[in-house]
Amino acid sequence: MFDKILIANRGEIALRIQRACKELGIATVAVHSTADADAMHVRLADESVCIGPPTARDSYLNIPALVTACEITGADAVHPGYGFLSENARFAEILEEHKITFIGPTSEHIRIMGDKIEAKVTAKRLGIPVVPGSDGAVTSEAEALKIAKSMGFPVLIKAAAGGGGRGMKVAHSAADLGLAFATARTESKAAFNDDAVYIEKYLQKPRHIEIQVFGDGKGNAVHLGERDCSLQRRHQKVLEEAPSPALNAAQRKKIGETVADAMRKIKYRGAGTVEFLYEDGEFFFIEMNTRLQVEHPVTEMITGIDLVLEQIRVASGAPLSVTQDDIVFSGHAIECRICAENAKTFRPSPGKISYWHPPGGLGVRVDSGAYQGYTIPPYYDSLIGKLIVHGKTRNDCMMRLRRALSEFVIDGIETTIPLFQDLVRQSDIVDGLYDIHWLEKHLGMK
Ligand code: ADP
Repeated sequence: MFDKILIANRGEIALRIQRACKELGIATVAVHSTADADAMHVRLADESVCIGPPTARDSYLNIPALVTACEITGADAVHPGYGFLSENARFAEILEEHKITFIGPTSEHIRIMGDKIEAKVTAKRLGIPVVPGSDGAVTSEAEALKIAKSMGFPVLIKAAAGGGGRGMKVAHSAADLGLAFATARTESKAAFNDDAVYIEKYLQKPRHIEIQVFGDGKGNAVHLGERDCSLQRRHQKVLEEAPSPALNAAQRKKIGETVADAMRKIKYRGAGTVEFLYEDGEFFFIEMNTRLQVEHPVTEMITGIDLVLEQIRVASGAPLSVTQDDIVFSGHAIECRICAENAKTFRPSPGKISYWHPPGGLGVRVDSGAYQGYTIPPYYDSLIGKLIVHGKTRNDCMMRLRRALSEFVIDGIETTIPLFQDLVRQSDIVDGLYDIHWLEKHLGMK
């Protein structure tokens, strides 16, 4: 087992990882930018190292500074969290070259899945159903038109290097295609320095359902069921739940086994999420994330398995602590992503938290690095915490979530809590009847 883990992240996820390290008796090193000197993840770590100025490019994405921080502190492993360098194959490679363990999959798996075109080819080869679309990158408008016509409109142009919903454009007809194709390429070049795009059939009313998997890197793998992340705004998740209200036990087992089998074949190591769109009883692969996800706690709540602890164990060479038969799903969990944003306009609202009162009680979990008197810096993602609620049934969970949201008080800044207070009172949400477009329609965006 490791002696000391450096956590190459900030905010709630840095704290989440620290908690797992502490329970394992592993010392922790926090890294931070100059803007985060007062952050909770720095205060609670055993050691901390300032790695640069506020801009993420110069601090949390600064590989030489991170490697130096490992060497100064003697850290023998790095947990990248999510975002930042968590899916950077080069970072994983550089750490290995310095004999520091990257807590995650091999750089080869990160690279394959990081290119969404290659990921789809791999998924298909492994027997996972994929969204119909182009076989590879599409380089000209004429080619795009030909494929779109053969598939039928609407189609979606997507960035091969995509992430965070960027570089994605819908074309409803041949007349829209030219602009959608050009904008997707430009956006992708600007965001990822790569203008490779591909085409997919644009599904009209799917749900986003993803499967959590875990492999030991030696050919053993298990699945931990699904998460339903259909409530989205601008292709970004807002609320997640497990299990999905749309699946029954047989469907869960079937897709879970298909994915776990694929992971066994490639000898996948660590935590991973295989994302699907689900429509009319069919699953269509869209991408795989080779890291811990923001929404991992809903899986933890219904399985009782600490995913970060398991990541650390597996990275140290230990076998998986559970077999598929040990994994039992119990009750229902929902997560709300609380952001420092206006709940109607979604304009970021950084600043000082003058009052902070999180909810508590049975089945309520708050993962957050915020506290009373903390000033949220304007430089990073606006996620300030996650409220995760567990109940025996989906209905119990919903009632508990309503209660927890009514207790949550954050003053001094604007937050998205009012949005969730509204959502838990909508009959479609209460009944679990929503697809990936529901929230934008509800918000008047479509
Ligand atoms: P990113 O990596 O940018 O998050 P994903 O491929 O994971 O992109 O897709 C993000 C979201 O975009 C999905 O959850 C879904 O809401 C929407 N989306 C992606 N592909 C399609 C598609 N073919 N049809 C309809 N919606 C899609």
